[in-house]
Amino acid sequence: MSDKTGTMLYLSGVSVSFDGFKALNNLSIIVRPAEMLAIIGPNGAGKTTMMDIITGKTRPDEGEVYFDDRTDLTKLDEANIANLGIGRKFQKPTVFESHSVFDNLVLALKKPRNVLSALLYAQSDADEARLDEILDTVRLSHRKNDLAADLSHGQKQWLEIGMLLAQDPKLLLVDEPVAGMTDAETEETAKLLKEIAKTRSVVVVEHDMSFVRDLGTRVTCLAEGSVLAEGSLDQVSANPIVIERYLGR
Ligand code: ADP
Ligand code: MG
Repeated sequence: MSDKTGTMLYLSGVSVSFDGFKALNNLSIIVRPAEMLAIIGPNGAGKTTMMDIITGKTRPDEGEVYFDDRTDLTKLDEANIANLGIGRKFQKPTVFESHSVFDNLVLALKKPRNVLSALLYAQSDADEARLDEILDTVRLSHRKNDLAADLSHGQKQWLEIGMLLAQDPKLLLVDEPVAGMTDAETEETAKLLKEIAKTRSVVVVEHDMSFVRDLGTRVTCLAEGSVLAEGSLDQVSANPIVIERYLGR
């Protein structure tokens, strides 16, 4: 049995340099099925670069990157990796403002590719039931027929998470989801991500410590492209090196 067995995401010894600057330096991280991992760390620690490596946007110079036990992601391009079931949420929400909330989810379904054919495509009852369930998960059932443009910033972030769920990913990567959200939206986001992580693997990068506490999950602190500390938030935030290089700043 290799040490990849039973992992949804397996990074081992990953390094990447940009013009001689090591953005990732021998980074190793594991995420198991239906597990959530929170990643914290100072600006420039390599958190976003790590997501770029997983999604195939950036190639590692060294190291192993495996998905779902045995798929070598370093051999695949971004489109192939997305199709395998890795969804990524960027910081800025990118929803279709001039379409309804529900149509945004329809547009995100894996089926037809262009906007017109996606909207004309007769949804099956099964699709509709599944999308209604997703609306529930992302707290937008009551906004189903409203224009996406009319949502709050936080609700747009949730809609985008819903659009990723419509593609039924096994692994969801979420970069700073609560930036710019109200406190109430931030609390709700922790709840909905915990619900999502009951059935999928989720990696969340976030600076907001009370949000990370609400996630109640395993935490990895990155700095200078490597793992500085791992454990519960209490363990990690009590670590003297983490305090010196991140929290104490
Ligand atoms: P974080 O998300 O933890 O704040 P990043 O992964 O964005 O950190 O950045 C890590 C370092 O790598 C930064 O110094 C950044 O400037 C650099 N970097 C990231 N991506 C690129 C790139 N495509 N080209 C050059 N430098 C990059
Ligand atoms: Mg970043």
